Amino acid sequence: MADKKKNGGYIIIAGCGRLGANLANTLSNIGENVIIIDKNQDAFRKLSPSFGGITTAGDATEIAVLKNAEIEKATAVISLTNNDNTNIMVAELAKKMFNIGQVIARLYDPECECVYQEFGIETICPAVLSMKEIDKLLPAISLGALETEGER
Ligand code: AMP
Repeated sequence: MADKKKNGGYIIIAGCGRLGANLANTLSNIGENVIIIDKNQDAFRKLSPSFGGITTAGDATEIAVLKNAEIEKATAVISLTNNDNTNIMVAELAKKMFNIGQVIARLYDPECECVYQEFGIETICPAVLSMKEIDKLLPAISLGALETEGER
C-alpha cells in the first residue's frame, strides 16, 4: 500500500457520500492522511481532484476490507454510511477488535445514540443536531420541549 503515514497515523472514513466525501476532502486539504471506503466505486467521484488520500472499494463491515485499509494503524475511524447498523458494526469492530482510540459513528436513529456512547463510541445524530440548530433559531420559544427521545 502507498505511503500514507506522514504523521504516523491516518483516518479511515467509511462511506463516501455527501458527508463522508466532504469530510475526506477537508481532512486531505489540511494535510491529514485519509483512507475512504465505499461499497460503490462511483461514490469516489464525489472526492475533489485535489484529494490526496486512498480510496478502497468494498463493504466496510467486512473485516478483510478493513484489514486491507490497514485499520490496525488508524488513529481514528469515522463511519458515515447511510445505514445505522453498518455504522454501528464498523464502529464496534474498530473499537473492540482493532482497539482504535477514536471512533465516531453517524446514527440516524436518536434512540441508539446514548447506548453506543457508553461503549466509548462517539456518535453524531443529524436529527439531534438539527433540533439544536432549530433551538438556536427560535430564541423566543422554550425548547426544552424539543428534546429528542435519545437525549432523555
Ligand atoms: P450518503 O447517504 O450521501 O451519506 O451516502 C452514504 C454512502 O455510504 C454511499 O456512498 C454508500 O454507497 C455508502 N455505503 C453504504 N453502506 C456501505 C457499506 N456497508 N460499506 C461501505 N460503504 C457503504
